[in-house]
Amino acid sequence: GREIHLASRPDGWPTPENFRLVEAPVPTPGPGQVLVRNTLMSVDPYMRGRMNDVKSYVPPFRLDAPLDGGALGEVLTSNAEGIDPGDTVLHGLGWREYAVVDAASARVVDPELAPVSAYLGVLGMTGLTAYAGLLAVARMQPGETVFVSAAAGAVGSLVGQIAKLRGAGRVIGSAGSPAKVDRLLGLGFDAAFDYHDGPVRESLKAAAPNGIDVYFDNVGGDHLEAAIGALRTHGRAAICGMIAQYNDAEPPAAPRNLALVIGKRLTLQGFLVGDHAGLRDEFLGEMAGWLRSGEIRYDETVVDGLDNAPAAFLGLLRGENLGKMLVRL
Ligand code: NDP
Repeated sequence: GREIHLASRPDGWPTPENFRLVEAPVPTPGPGQVLVRNTLMSVDPYMRGRMNDVKSYVPPFRLDAPLDGGALGEVLTSNAEGIDPGDTVLHGLGWREYAVVDAASARVVDPELAPVSAYLGVLGMTGLTAYAGLLAVARMQPGETVFVSAAAGAVGSLVGQIAKLRGAGRVIGSAGSPAKVDRLLGLGFDAAFDYHDGPVRESLKAAAPNGIDVYFDNVGGDHLEAAIGALRTHGRAAICGMIAQYNDAEPPAAPRNLALVIGKRLTLQGFLVGDHAGLRDEFLGEMAGWLRSGEIRYDETVVDGLDNAPAAFLGLLRGENLGKMLVRL
């Protein structure tokens, strides 16, 4: 089967040359393992950090070895109790056609409940990130004004919709194109702007003249600076990601106004979705209801072919996705 290896580590923006398509023998599952034919895989911003050889909350990808990440596939052979051939499993060995997965790291998903792609997005890590970050980390209260960046992306589009469903007074999103801004308004955001149209600080001021209570940060940099400026006394920011700087070789110039956290008694809290596994059942229950009722909608951008996975990943970093970026194998 084919797999994508890390050929070299990027300096700044990654390029197709950092990846290599390799033909490898189909692996054989041992006791307690299953052989999976992958059908769908996720590309995610955090994978950019794993291309660097630095210690972080997830280990770096290894050179000349397959990358990994969230994937769905069909079980071909099973040596594990509770998993049968034909089952669809969610697991962590994407970027390859065939994977041998420990049963403990594979979860059988129900294709009757939702289109299986949802388990990589709205019903998976993406959805829990939005839910936990907004409700448990930023502790959004009904009536509050919420601002979310990368709002037309996988996490951001759910943050805005969950905020509305949980009673936010006003929800504002920023995104990188006029089409994305239109989509946000269609999803029920009260206001949205294209951050290319002018300084974020000014666009945010126009959208939220009375300030904001909660900022869900996916971007960092000038977005974070603008949010710190707009947050009201005792405002909270859930720091989820800082994609604006993932490809920077130099430390970012912004935020320059961090001292405002003192007088305004702001809380800026970073978080990892993995810390919030305890919320998973509550999240799944509530999200499944919202999907059934049609109150939450989600977009997917699907790229075809494992050989196009690097391009899909690079496209994600450039904002070519609406909603969740996926690769169909
Ligand atoms: P998205 O679907 O949001 O895709 C990334 C988006 O980022 C792009 O579509 C692009 O949209 C936007 N973007 C790229 N560069 C910039 C820039 N310079 N300025 C502003 N926007 C930019 O990805 P996810 O929903 O998967 O992830 C969103 C964020 O959440 C990321 O920062 C990610 O690292 C983080 N994350 C954190 C987790 C945690 O546990 N803390 C878990 C999961 C995700 P546009 O066209 O609008 O620019």
